[in-house]
Amino acid sequence: MGNGILIILSGPSGSGKDTVLNKLVENRDDIKISVSMTTREKRQGEIDGFHYYFVDREYFKRKISEDKVLEFAEYAGNFYGTPKAPVDEMLADGKAVILKIEVQGAEKIRKLYPNVISIFLMPPSMRTLEERLRGRNSEDEETLNHRLVIAREEMRRASEYDYMVVNDTVENAVAGIEMIINAERLKTLRNKKLLSEVINNV
Ligand code: 5GP
Repeated sequence: MGNGILIILSGPSGSGKDTVLNKLVENRDDIKISVSMTTREKRQGEIDGFHYYFVDREYFKRKISEDKVLEFAEYAGNFYGTPKAPVDEMLADGKAVILKIEVQGAEKIRKLYPNVISIFLMPPSMRTLEERLRGRNSEDEETLNHRLVIAREEMRRASEYDYMVVNDTVENAVAGIEMIINAERLKTLRNKKLLSEVINNV
């Protein structure tokens, strides 16, 4: 894993993961977001290679068979997966790498990397979540209702995570995640090299 820190951020669709994470990385060169592949349709304003790599099912399946995907899951009828190589490279480079994935993917990553830090981003209320999803205006009523049902199921699993951050305001949520990463970097376990250097130079 190098000196990097692997972090999972989950939260239901509409919890504001993108807004919070984009704000978080604005001023922090040591924090990177992994860009996933998905077979879902591109939403208005989404950029290929930034929000996701938008791919077809055939390409997606091929990458899985080539073992190029760290984990993948099906969500609301589409496939989502984490490309392996960029994550390994960023970790080797000492970055804190955030995987913005749903609960099934989180479960798989915990098995692969027992030291992973997991954070659940919660909306302050179900009403706020629904308003945010409606405000996005990108899905029909059926898809929206489906996402709300999934959201409730996902929130029931929030206790499987190490931390819960409430996204009442973007600033609070960003501050919460930064605190977690900062504290993680200060763990004795992650500073063994420094420790032995200081001791041996005395
Ligand atoms: P959306 O369609 O709203 O962008 O994403 C739907 C869900 O899929 C979100 O919870 C998002 O975090 C999750 N997701 C995005 N990329 C990945 C991925 O690579 N793996 C997994 N397991 N989930 C992902």
